[in-house]
Amino acid sequence: MSRTLMVAGNWKLHKTVDESVALAQALLKGLQRKDLDVLIAPTFPAIHAVAQAVKGSPILVAGQNLYWQDQGAFTAEVSGPMLKAAGASHVIIGHSERRQFFGETEKTVNHRVNAALKAGLTPIVCVGETLEEREANQTADVLQSQLAGGLAGLDAKQAAKLIIAYEPVWAIGTGKTASEDQADQAHAEIRAWLGGRFDKNIENSVRILYGGSVKSANAAGLLNREHVDGALVGGASLTAEDFLGIIEAA
Ligand code: PEP
Repeated sequence: MSRTLMVAGNWKLHKTVDESVALAQALLKGLQRKDLDVLIAPTFPAIHAVAQAVKGSPILVAGQNLYWQDQGAFTAEVSGPMLKAAGASHVIIGHSERRQFFGETEKTVNHRVNAALKAGLTPIVCVGETLEEREANQTADVLQSQLAGGLAGLDAKQAAKLIIAYEPVWAIGTGKTASEDQADQAHAEIRAWLGGRFDKNIENSVRILYGGSVKSANAAGLLNREHVDGALVGGASLTAEDFLGIIEAA
């Protein structure tokens, strides 16, 4: 089954509203490829302005997180319906920085996945092992438990709407990239798990992005591998030149 490639940029805690719109406009200007999905995830304050700037173009917009209640006394949180109304179609969930610095657990990932689906947002669910876990040969176990917890209770119809991002924690922002073999093997394990937990269609159709120090120089090799359906890019998504370079190389 052919899966459309996606190149996604996670802007993390970078850029003011004006800077975000300028970057989105520069991407629009330089974007040549029409055969893959391009997605950008600005900070919350910039989502609406960026979504307006790319409206009617092939560039998709994502939130970097969401809360699982639609509204209420939950100071500083942002909900799925709010993201959707601001122009987002996707939302990143369970990024390792959320797990590491903000107490994200499999249970909270699961709440967020359900809330995203309920709001009509496509969840991009991040999983990945630490260096210690990889060195202790625990990668497959860690991925399985993150998937089992994060996707608990979902049915196949819901699972068909997911995107998974495999992001080894040791490769994020470190300049160390997983080798093409390491990435493809982890993606194959995730794919097999999806097949066992849901069905063959989910196994073959759900896209699995790789994240961890992707640059234009290593993108082609990684994205050419059978089970790698795109990239989730942090640092190299912050300039149009770098991000377009990855898109062109994909
Ligand atoms: C990320 O934060 O999702 C990421 C992969 O970052 P970087 O590309 O900078 O390693």
